[in-house]
Amino acid sequence: MSDFDQNNLIDLTSQLIRLPTTADRPDLLGQAVELVISLFSDIPGLVIKRYEQNGKPSLVILTKDTLEPDILLCGHLDVVPAEEPMFEPTIRDGRLYGRGACDMKSGAAVLISLMRYFAQSPMPASLGLMLTTDEECGGANGVGWLVKEKNYRTKLAIIPDGGNAPDQVITKNKGLMHLRLMATGQMAHASRPWEGSNAIHQLLEALGSVRKLFPDVAQDQWADTLSIGTIDGGQATNQVAEKATATVDIRFTEASSPEKILDSVKKAAPDCQVEVILQGNMSFTAHDHPYLKLYSEVLKNELNLQAKFQGTPGGNDGRFLTALGTPVLVVRPISKGLHGPDEWLDVAGLTAYADLLKKYLIELAKAMYPDKNG
Ligand SMILES: [Zn+2]
Repeated sequence: MSDFDQNNLIDLTSQLIRLPTTADRPDLLGQAVELVISLFSDIPGLVIKRYEQNGKPSLVILTKDTLEPDILLCGHLDVVPAEEPMFEPTIRDGRLYGRGACDMKSGAAVLISLMRYFAQSPMPASLGLMLTTDEECGGANGVGWLVKEKNYRTKLAIIPDGGNAPDQVITKNKGLMHLRLMATGQMAHASRPWEGSNAIHQLLEALGSVRKLFPDVAQDQWADTLSIGTIDGGQATNQVAEKATATVDIRFTEASSPEKILDSVKKAAPDCQVEVILQGNMSFTAHDHPYLKLYSEVLKNELNLQAKFQGTPGGNDGRFLTALGTPVLVVRPISKGLHGPDEWLDVAGLTAYADLLKKYLIELAKAMYPDKNG
């Protein structure tokens, strides 16, 4: 049977879903990596590498011994938490339900199948499969580390971790910034507030000013957003608070930058200490990049669909590659509901998606090596 047989793809997806690979189960992250490696035991000649950084295992499988495969199939095996039943996949009305059905065990199953196929039917371009286990935690110990410390590079990465169908091509993701605001006052009895200085009052005022820096976004639009995530302060109701802290989540577009944001937040909150907790770049690939144009053509020919290039507020590991100027193709099979209680995958769509990517890889290899046949 073909690697792209519907039953095989759904079986592999289900097998991966049954491993609850959440961040709090490091043993299962390792098991998932070993499961994938075992799927290649019947194919000789592959270069198989295991890595681990800060307890996060990763694997890289290559058709050629190099740190720079021409094409990188890149994905993650970890998932966000869910109620126990979501780790037993179920099929209803042509849909497969379960944690990771969309994000992204179905995509991982397709990448694995593509790697198996091209390992046995060589093409002129070299291929790498990179699967990590910390995308849901920011990716710094997975793709981030493999790129920065191990120096993996590629001409194009395919990442099935954005959009909800093969025609929704995600070309940009907002950048991310987590900030902590800290106010310090002076303790006093609450009945005599004038004798102290209230840190919570200061913090609320600062947060009010900081919120005004960001537009009120009522629906998904390509603009900077802010959400106050946590707020904490004071020790007793009858005491003027000495300390108060808030953390905020900011998503930004190319119209701003982390430096500009930090600067304006500091100006809007002059009485608070402002500190960066986490920062992630935007990711961006030009939609007229030749490899993306080629995808549009293959999509048109194979599925008679028009590619729609879009931005999305959430991020993915592509940002570590686009930061180096490497283009990424981010598309998912038909699937929806990631991180929610009804995450699903369209069963028939998975085979169509795998066939589409197979065809695309063949065309891509021809574009990269026009003089070679094969
Ligand atoms: Zn994902």
